[in-house]
Amino acid sequence: GYDVHCLDSNPEAPMIEGCTSHYGTESPLEKVDLLVVSPGVPSSNPIIVKAEQLGITVSGELGFAASHISAPLLAVTGTNGKSSTAWYTHQLLEQAGYRSFVGGNFGTALSEMAMDEDKFDVGVVEVSSYQMEFPHGFNPHAAVALNLTPDHLKRHGTMDVYAEMKRRVFAEQGSNQFSIVSVGETELYPKNNAWKWWIGRHPGALVNNGAVDLSTAYGDHRLSLKSLQLLGKHNQQNIVAACLLVHSLQTDLSQLSLRTLQPLEHRLERVKDQDGVTWINDSKATNIEATMAGIAGVGGQQIVLLGGAGKEGADYKRLLPLLKKYARAVICFGQSGDEIGLQIHNNGFDVH
Ligand code: ADP
Repeated sequence: GYDVHCLDSNPEAPMIEGCTSHYGTESPLEKVDLLVVSPGVPSSNPIIVKAEQLGITVSGELGFAASHISAPLLAVTGTNGKSSTAWYTHQLLEQAGYRSFVGGNFGTALSEMAMDEDKFDVGVVEVSSYQMEFPHGFNPHAAVALNLTPDHLKRHGTMDVYAEMKRRVFAEQGSNQFSIVSVGETELYPKNNAWKWWIGRHPGALVNNGAVDLSTAYGDHRLSLKSLQLLGKHNQQNIVAACLLVHSLQTDLSQLSLRTLQPLEHRLERVKDQDGVTWINDSKATNIEATMAGIAGVGGQQIVLLGGAGKEGADYKRLLPLLKKYARAVICFGQSGDEIGLQIHNNGFDVH
């Protein structure tokens, strides 16, 4: 029953059926009750600033969609491992017989779930820092914050603001909900009345003797990590997080198998085995920590290809200890290839 207007700064953006379209800086704010923003639009955008001055409610797409969904939502945030964890959680839920939606920052907007809610029992939501600029009451049944390292500072300005955006995933949670965080990630620790579970200790779960060892007020479980298809220690952290999210629904975990979990494409994805060489695609390692996790996760003797468009101020020298340990050669390419190569070469590593 609402009268819907769409605003786009791009004058060539397509019209959306059923909406009145506005382009450039033109905006009908005087008549607006609620402004829903795409995560691509920063809070500094003049239309948003004006809307706030006029007292209009501004909501991110995530919070807006969530307020129209009654099924439980399981949220994942952090600098690295969000998509992987969301994907593993979704696979475990499907194994357990749930009809699971996976989306948010992960491909499909959460609004799609709101439109088709009767098709799903539960939603797994990847949450980016951009999406938390206007959380608008986003309060998932369970939320996990995996880790925090410098990233997206062009948008957020400082690490403090970036950390605040990550913590917001917990901000609206109440006493019957679950906040899950990695031990030691003090900047991410929730300040709310929700249940607190830990990645790395109990109540919560940790990796112990080749298994996920989980213990909370909902019960104890051990899930074997034997014959896992996923590479790297960081993936074990992601799996622990996924198990806790599923456990928050009081699911019987004893029936579930971690062995069948599949990686996402472009994340330590085994592409091909040929002539004794395994080719691995980790092109989603888009910051230094992710790259380090990838190189350490593969181990052995590697030829490492480093390239693409780097992030301003990235210190590639931090890769050196791992490269010295695991790389037979390094090949640099792409927009930042020269810069990466120079930093590594200047610090005593042969680069091609
Ligand atoms: P995100 O969605 O947060 O960008 P992804 O799951 O897409 O994270 O993984 C991106 C890259 O980050 C992977 O290719 C891997 O190298 C690295 N990675 C994944 N999980 C973790 C983690 N828990 N800690 C550190 N690095 C990770």
